[in-house]
Amino acid sequence: MEDITQEQPKVISEFQKIIQANMLSHAYLIDDASSQVRNQMAIWIAQTQFCEHLVDGLPDQTCQKCQNIALGDNPDVLQVTTDKQSIGVDDIKFFKKEANMTATQGNRRILIINEAEKMTSAASNNLLKTIEEPEGNLMIILLCNSAKQMLPTIQSRVQIFHLSNKSNSDEIADLQKVGYKEATAKLALTMSDVKYLLSMNGDNYQALHGAIITWLKRCNNRQPDSFIDVQTDIMPLIENKSHQQLFFDMMNQIFSDILSIRYNLDNTKLVNEDILSNRNIPTVVEFSEELFHAEEMWKSNVAFQAILEDLSLKYVN
Ligand SMILES: [Zn+2]
Repeated sequence: MEDITQEQPKVISEFQKIIQANMLSHAYLIDDASSQVRNQMAIWIAQTQFCEHLVDGLPDQTCQKCQNIALGDNPDVLQVTTDKQSIGVDDIKFFKKEANMTATQGNRRILIINEAEKMTSAASNNLLKTIEEPEGNLMIILLCNSAKQMLPTIQSRVQIFHLSNKSNSDEIADLQKVGYKEATAKLALTMSDVKYLLSMNGDNYQALHGAIITWLKRCNNRQPDSFIDVQTDIMPLIENKSHQQLFFDMMNQIFSDILSIRYNLDNTKLVNEDILSNRNIPTVVEFSEELFHAEEMWKSNVAFQAILEDLSLKYVN
């Protein structure tokens, strides 16, 4: 794994200044880059609080304390992670209580919340109380894809750091190992998190891309049987939640590409022809809003296939 201090020098140096000025806040939100890089950054921040060999306020990342944190073996550094589609209020309450119990008195405690965008409103509001009235030495680090996904009340009460999105050579190499071509890997990483991309092999990713394009072309021609494409071409490639996320990421990008083509902007990623040529701009925008609603439904656990069939019917009209 590339060292975080070399990977994200800008945010690291900003933190160094904050630490040296003794201006550390009790709540941070870190977005952009990938879930792995965000987590590495949170670990590094935790290390700044526990390292035994700080140099100019920066952790050496090698002492026992630093290693324990990286391995998840420091009881004062708690990580919330979930495989579920949401982080509920009970999860937040549990970890807050845990943070209170494990702390040796006076010790800094750090609560890292991975995929914070998965927090329900109730969970966010519960956490908000803690952010507004910090308990002792608790520091909360929220990690998410985009700060915009968080409640405005949270955004306004935390310090936000945007990581650099430059493609990570390790992530590209990992994707190449599962069959992605280098160019495809670079492009895919600008749309989707590496965690989801690694769940699919490169051939299937290409196949999914092709299947979606074919389906949308048929929708464009108002072919009622476009519905069948979903069954025969798309669903067989979608085996789990991660693949479903990739579908939504690709679809979002395709709508953005089509609008770019309409407005003569030269920044398309997945399509370079106007595959919805029989629809006017307001309709394309409407389709993209339908997709947004579909993704919201999916997040609240409506079955993926039902959502896709519903979209197919809407896009044929
Ligand atoms: Zn250390």
